[in-house]
Amino acid sequence: MGMEVLVSGAGIAGPTLAFWLARQGWQVTLVERAGALRSGGNPVDVRGPALPVAARMGILPLLRQAATDATAMRVIGPSGHTIARLPMPASDADVEIPRSDLAAILGGTVRDDAELLLDDTITEMRQDPGGVDVTFERAAPRRFDLVVGADGLHSTVRRLAFGPEAAFVTPVGLHVATMPLGGPAEIPDEVLLFNTPGRLVSIHPARGEAMAAFIFRGKGLDRHAPHEAVINAYRHEGWRVPELLDRLRHTADPYFDEVSRVTLPTWSTGRVTLLGDAASCVSLLGDGSTLAMSAAHTLATALTEHAGDPAAALRRYEAEHRRLVIPKQRRLGFAAGMLVPATHLGLTTRNLGARLMARRPPRPAAAARS
Ligand SMILES: Cc1cc2nc3c(=O)[nH]c(=O)nc-3n(C[C@H](O)[C@H](O)[C@H](O)COP(=O)(O)OP(=O)(O)OC[C@H]3O[C@@H](n4cnc5c(N)ncnc54)[C@H](O)[C@@H]3O)c2cc1C
Repeated sequence: MGMEVLVSGAGIAGPTLAFWLARQGWQVTLVERAGALRSGGNPVDVRGPALPVAARMGILPLLRQAATDATAMRVIGPSGHTIARLPMPASDADVEIPRSDLAAILGGTVRDDAELLLDDTITEMRQDPGGVDVTFERAAPRRFDLVVGADGLHSTVRRLAFGPEAAFVTPVGLHVATMPLGGPAEIPDEVLLFNTPGRLVSIHPARGEAMAAFIFRGKGLDRHAPHEAVINAYRHEGWRVPELLDRLRHTADPYFDEVSRVTLPTWSTGRVTLLGDAASCVSLLGDGSTLAMSAAHTLATALTEHAGDPAAALRRYEAEHRRLVIPKQRRLGFAAGMLVPATHLGLTTRNLGARLMARRPPRPAAAARS
């Protein structure tokens, strides 16, 4: 009988890991707090090291079918005029896809090979050198050889195994709220960005419903009270903001969180390890989905090549994947400054840079791919 692994979280990292471990004969159980895997959501990128992982999983055609049609970013000025129009994505091999569609496609790859416990969560874990005894909110208690926390920024596995989240989660000074717009974007191939100092509103086309995002500076707002926080932050803004705030008032559960980075001195303790945002969230500014998929593949490869020695496998996974994460986390402050400049001067400088970039000749496709 293969080793038994419990993966908490069926987002991006969880199902990717489940796919690769199931192929190696592991018995995989995925526990997901949500009652169903939803479609739609804010678009994320699959690129760089995640592309070969997706290709070897055989899902690239599905990802391309579900990809957004966005080919450019338009930076809008206060009166609705265009400041700059920048081509995207960075490489023509990249795929931009609604996050939940990516999760659904990844989940589909393990539908027949992993046990899925929906609407449930781990409540307690006790480990000894041979395994981990786990209790759930709903399912019966079980013992596993390994538990993987792929349960995102506010990971339950991390809290149970390593301690309260305040020790590991550092806000980068921004909040983000997203909501569906109920229909396709007026311009189906352009992401619209409207900034004032300390605030950004974006409208992002997606297959089906377009998404709006409010990203604004501030710390410590209650993530369970999105309406009040966003309306307070944007009540004096122009362009299409009043219409978007009206829509927000009628949106039951917009996504809302503090943009944060996660750092831990080690990702594993005994037979419990962390993966994806739970281990090393780079926030929405740093290729989180791409890193989640490549981390899952690295972990599965290490567990396969060090079969029978989980400690060695977990050390190798961490050493390899940290090399990708560290530079991304270092760039977060710069990325936040570019996306949401805090002052008029910062915004003018950013917009000047955007105009200069827009004037650069497009790179040939082959060069862009490399
Ligand atoms: C607004 C926004 C925009 C973003 N844009 C980009 C982008 O453009 N490019 C990019 O690469 N990344 C982007 N990201 C980041 C990206 O979405 C994440 O980095 C990525 O989803 C991380 O994958 P994950 O599997 O680690 O965690 P998640 O995708 O967060 O999945 C975690 C899963 O665990 C589940 N879960 C939570 N708690 C429990 C529990 N107690 N028990 C069981 N299950 C649980 C959740 O329901 C979820 O399904 C963006 C994120 C946000 C919020």
